[in-house]
Amino acid sequence: MAKTVAAIATPLMQGSIGVIRISGDEAISVANKVFRCAKEGVSLENMAGYTAAYGYMFNEKGHIDDGVALVFRAPHSYTGEDVVELSCHGGPVVLKQLLRAVLDAGAVSAGPGEFTKRAFLNGKLSLTQAEAVMDVISAQSTAALQTANGIKNGSVYKKITALKDILVFCAASVAAYVDFPEEGTEYMDTTGWLDKLKQVEKELGELIRSFDSGALIKNGIDCVIAGKPNVGKSTLMNLLAQSERSIVTDIAGTTRDIVEETVELDGVLLRLSDTAGIHSGSDEVEKIGIEKAKQRMKNAQLVLAVFDAGRPLCQEDMSILESIKDQPTVLIVNKTDLGIAADLSVLQSYGKAVCISAAKGQGVDELKAAIMQACGANTLTPGQPVLANERQLEAAKRALSAVQSAVFDAKCGQTFDLIGVVLEDAISALLELNGESVGETVVSEIFSKFCVGK
Ligand code: GDP
Repeated sequence: MAKTVAAIATPLMQGSIGVIRISGDEAISVANKVFRCAKEGVSLENMAGYTAAYGYMFNEKGHIDDGVALVFRAPHSYTGEDVVELSCHGGPVVLKQLLRAVLDAGAVSAGPGEFTKRAFLNGKLSLTQAEAVMDVISAQSTAALQTANGIKNGSVYKKITALKDILVFCAASVAAYVDFPEEGTEYMDTTGWLDKLKQVEKELGELIRSFDSGALIKNGIDCVIAGKPNVGKSTLMNLLAQSERSIVTDIAGTTRDIVEETVELDGVLLRLSDTAGIHSGSDEVEKIGIEKAKQRMKNAQLVLAVFDAGRPLCQEDMSILESIKDQPTVLIVNKTDLGIAADLSVLQSYGKAVCISAAKGQGVDELKAAIMQACGANTLTPGQPVLANERQLEAAKRALSAVQSAVFDAKCGQTFDLIGVVLEDAISALLELNGESVGETVVSEIFSKFCVGK
């Protein structure tokens, strides 16, 4: 019997409400020792699931706080066990005293992610869904939240289960032929399952390819604004951030170091860095800033390279274009409100160029679309299944490699025995991905990264 566990489920800081969560067979009797319902004759012990009661929380010394107890009865709770949530005032001392009282009443301290781990072990969530719980909590943008919610609601689980079911059908077809080759069953026709196998190969490949875009959405995109001094980098930064974060002046070289801002663009998080204008013949302090800017540009996931529409491209513009030509880039022709003297065809030979006026806010929609396209964020639709971490990616790659071998073996006329073995490998990789066959060590490792109380 799993021990009854308890933890503070809300941040240990001042807030209007704090919650202690208790889960396990003894959850209700433990909570009953520290919580007395205000209403005469009502006790947590005789409350139905999904009901709440107002009352008083106490330890052996006396009153701690008043608040609400929420009762969940197994299996209809987050963990699948009996659960009580005690909502008190959100003060660190209140929460610590109440947790101490709950532990003294017979619960043990929950480890990191213990409640979600129990939900997984009790079959309330698949492993990918459980993993997504932390991604929901740590989501930093609308798109990251949508993706994490999709996974938490089963998008990856359903996708992997569907692919696994097809593989099981293929393996059964192969096995039927191995067992009864003389009976001439319908399974003898390889096209019956080979086409299905190829479909799994294609879909697994797509899922694996979506990992990078998913990671960009989850972690945000490291995006550098680069260009000569005075082309309008800070103005662009302010436009994207909708604030006056950078210092905007018409004296060349004002943004001497790196100014950073986090903005959400069409739901996707961009970590913008406005760098020192890149040019020659500057003072020592500026030179350091320019070196940093070049370094940042090299490491960026996306470069927004800004050019002055009102002037022909110069040597410095060309060297910026050369230095970023192998990186995801959006070329931005700014100050188009003053007319275009820059040679657009030269710029376009380096990539997609977008004409804007940062000062007048013109061309913003085209710019946003180009940014989304350049970083691949536009390839994902909200709620689409996306592999969320290295563990899932590794299992998916293992499954794909086994499926590719099976397809290859089938085309080469290998024995059905051999194909059957390879298909089993693919199936077990997918079962691992979904957590249907996964070792205790892996499970412990996954949940150790969760916060306590979740
Ligand atoms: P940075 O050195 O590249 O960061 O350039 P700033 O953003 O500081 O802008 C330099 C000057 O160009 C400022 O006087 C801005 O007001 C002006 N500027 C920026 N964008 C535009 C634009 O789209 N049109 C016009 N006409 N002026 C702009």
